[in-house]
Amino acid sequence: MNGRKSCLLAIDQGTTSTRAILFDGTGSPLRSHAVPLRQIYPANGWVEHDPGEIWQAALTCCRTVLGGRDAGDVAAIGITNQRETSLVWDKASGKPLHNAIVWQDRRGAQRCAALKKRGLEAGIARKTGLLLDPYFSATKLEWLLKHVKGAKNRNIAFGTIDSWLIWNLTKGKVHATDVTNASRTLLWNLKTRDWDARLLKLFGVPRAILPEVRESRGDFGTADPMLLGAAIPILGVAGDQQAASFGQACFAPGDVKSTYGTGCFALVNTGKTVPRSRNRLLATALAQKQYAIEGSIFIAGAVVQWLRDELGVIASAPESQALAKRAKPADGLYFVPAFTGLGAPYWDPAARGAILGLTRDVGKAEIVRAALDAVCYQTRDLLDAMRRDMKAAGRGASARAGATKLKSLRALKVDGGMVANDWFCQRLADLTGLGVDRPKVTETTALGAAYLAGLGAGLFKSEKDIAARWALDRRFVPALAKKERDRLYAGWKAAVSRVR
Ligand code: ADP
Repeated sequence: MNGRKSCLLAIDQGTTSTRAILFDGTGSPLRSHAVPLRQIYPANGWVEHDPGEIWQAALTCCRTVLGGRDAGDVAAIGITNQRETSLVWDKASGKPLHNAIVWQDRRGAQRCAALKKRGLEAGIARKTGLLLDPYFSATKLEWLLKHVKGAKNRNIAFGTIDSWLIWNLTKGKVHATDVTNASRTLLWNLKTRDWDARLLKLFGVPRAILPEVRESRGDFGTADPMLLGAAIPILGVAGDQQAASFGQACFAPGDVKSTYGTGCFALVNTGKTVPRSRNRLLATALAQKQYAIEGSIFIAGAVVQWLRDELGVIASAPESQALAKRAKPADGLYFVPAFTGLGAPYWDPAARGAILGLTRDVGKAEIVRAALDAVCYQTRDLLDAMRRDMKAAGRGASARAGATKLKSLRALKVDGGMVANDWFCQRLADLTGLGVDRPKVTETTALGAAYLAGLGAGLFKSEKDIAARWALDRRFVPALAKKERDRLYAGWKAAVSRVR
């Protein structure tokens, strides 16, 4: 290990908070500080963040975790961030020209619908791995270029949040992003690994305003010594889900992780060739020159919040465990939490939530259990779609010499706030039929960023070295017979069909 410079500083800029975690040279967290982020809702379906607030919060978090320590101890900075959220700033003044448009913002919906109508979705999906949805950056940037006064004639820069933090940390010396963030813009071609000229033309984006795309484990410049007290190199950058996948050491094709926070994001490593989903999942770049198929569920932990804040049947999220444990079987009870429509693989923005199969003896415990069950069934939806994609890819690979042959899904590595709930983890194993592995460190997003930076700084030798550090807290083994699992799942599919 590098004698003096023995720490790593990870900045995790999320949707609802900004945090910094200081890790030691083995990847153990030492100190952490978080600042909540103000959500701005200017119109129905619009969500914005103040870029100045984000930068100040990142700086405060970094300074707080470094407090009292010599910043010269820090070998490198790693950055991970909420993906797709987009902003533009003036290169001369460094000032943002508008609030950042957040990934949840739907203002590009009409534009996406119009492009779909022109039959452009399949071609765009082949290039970018994504679907035509306002979730991704392109229509956000298009909106900014159209509505920000003078944007066309000024020397401006576009960036996702990683680029914005890099720009500020380096005091405007570096305008760059990494491959994982670029792969969420709808402007970046997964095969050429470059901005796509035809997509830039389609969305009216001048190439000159785009950041340079670098590998996630790369040199993103040096933090100005005036900011943190030392010139610290930025050596790792990745979008939050890809960082979590790295932190979970999902390095082999078939390795799959699922993060249960507000929503749920599952990524399966598909190896070195660009995958193509035939089941309405996304293809995306990983932080280690590999690709993944990704599925997202909008409502996971958010359903637990809803039980607490709107229904008032629990006083705290952890209470959901005790209630679910004592629930009666209540066969046929299903909770479909389609509060904001359904994500992958349904992509149905019009669907709305429902509780089906209510009987006289259903009480709050049964409803809480049905809500947790729903997160498990939705995970199975994603895993089944992934399996179908991998099977198709396997058939293709046997036809193409040299292509990666995918093995079947191994155990599911889980993280995020919900996995503190043992009952939920066991139920997830029972209802998906896959072993569920919960690691000791569940802050995998920040850990992934720290690992990327640590590899660059030489604190870790290789991905193998990192994989060896992954430590199991507990494995949950499926205990439900397949026949019963499939019967329950058939009931879920029927419930979903009734809300669409
Ligand atoms: P995010 O990063 O999206 O803010 P976190 O990873 O911090 O989310 O997870 C918080 C979510 O996990 C909340 O939605 C909360 O309802 C849920 N949660 C936290 N603890 C538990 C628990 N013991 N059982 C079930 N859900 C939980």
